[in-house]
Amino acid sequence: MNTGTAGATPRRIVILGATGSIGRSTADVIARSPAGMFEVDAVAGGRDAVALARTARALGAKFAAICDETRYSELKAELSGSGIEAAAGANSVVEAARRPADMVVAAIAGAAGVAPTHAAAMEGRVIALANKECLVCAGPPFMRDAERRGARLLPLDSEHNAIFQALGERDVASIEKMTLTASGGPFRCWTREQIDAATPEQALAHPNWSMGAKITVDSAGLMNKGLELIEASYLFGIEAARLDVLVHPQSIVHGLVSFADGTMIAGLSNPDMRVHVAHCLAYPERVATAVPRLDLAAIGALTFEKPDFARFPALRIALDALAAGGAMPTVLNAANEAAVEAFLARRISFADIAVIVAKACEEAARRGEDRAPDTIEDAMAVDHVVRERVAAILAERSRSGMVIK
Ligand code: NDP
Ligand code: MG
Repeated sequence: MNTGTAGATPRRIVILGATGSIGRSTADVIARSPAGMFEVDAVAGGRDAVALARTARALGAKFAAICDETRYSELKAELSGSGIEAAAGANSVVEAARRPADMVVAAIAGAAGVAPTHAAAMEGRVIALANKECLVCAGPPFMRDAERRGARLLPLDSEHNAIFQALGERDVASIEKMTLTASGGPFRCWTREQIDAATPEQALAHPNWSMGAKITVDSAGLMNKGLELIEASYLFGIEAARLDVLVHPQSIVHGLVSFADGTMIAGLSNPDMRVHVAHCLAYPERVATAVPRLDLAAIGALTFEKPDFARFPALRIALDALAAGGAMPTVLNAANEAAVEAFLARRISFADIAVIVAKACEEAARRGEDRAPDTIEDAMAVDHVVRERVAAILAERSRSGMVIK
């Protein structure tokens, strides 16, 4: 891989999900890096043509792809005179992912990121992976194809990035345990009744991290940690029994690796994704960021506690899906995305998210639909069926005014 270090040609980057929270952090790291270190070839986004065009111009990209086809003329108009090629439709996002590049930043939110991220893997690219849903939805076929095609995954999710750095060159088989931390989110000290009745505004008020809406809601119910445990199991090839979670309200320690001799190595930084973005972009070198340096004396105390499964049932449901394996993580991911969308649209309560996900998992098990997807297409087919089922549950509920049980 081209390292982008002084004297070398710039490292060529494609950013999928360039207008989102991780996309913006990526743009910030690149904008502040030494001239000639990085060059952005292509950017891709979902629906926001104005933001995508602005990002493409600011980064000097050559190609901008927007998934929503109805935004094509808007994107083209916004890019007029720039010399940047505009394209639209899901295929154009895949085209962006396939362009010759040294690294693809996979930062689309949700299972929408599976096809383009997989396309990059099939080209054997180095992928800075933020899109955890890609692995939760399609982990086994995705990892197999990535390996076959010589793609390399650099974990961008903060916990996985910290663990990746703590692990170094050591073999995962040689370690005793991997621990992911969770901030505990805005409801850490709330009662179960308060959590169940939480509004979208309350769920979106994360105490430490500024992130996209879906992952912020996931974090509030600890589903995000469940998704991340599943992500870690595929990414590092580690079984559930050696994965652990600690609630750590300061969000300074992101991940820990434990060894047989009693040593633990932890990755620490301020809760700012630019640290992890920068680590991936410059890997294996380092690039300076504008992130405030960690002042441990000012922070004073770092605290840790066990997660409370009674108040945060989503974490248990995700752990059960990880233990069940097969298609269960795919089912969990699809049902959760559909449920979070319904919660944000105020169609269901916060409590309903976990209820719907559990129901979808039970239904899939009851129907014997838990066979592991062999291919990405199999995984997307399961994803599709589960979303339709959740849509039917929601439609039935709005018709009858019934409470979801
Ligand atoms: P955001 O919602 O802020 O951004 C999502 C991005 O994906 C936007 O650029 C959006 O474009 C784009 N997008 C959505 N659908 C499509 C599509 N079909 N095709 C192409 N682009 C699409 O999310 P985040 O940046 O917060 O999160 C992105 C991913 O990174 C998620 O998987 C999340 O779990 C993971 N992650 C995020 C962290 C964070 O701190 N934010 C931390 C660790 C992981 P548009 O706005 O135009 O719709
Ligand atoms: Mg994370």
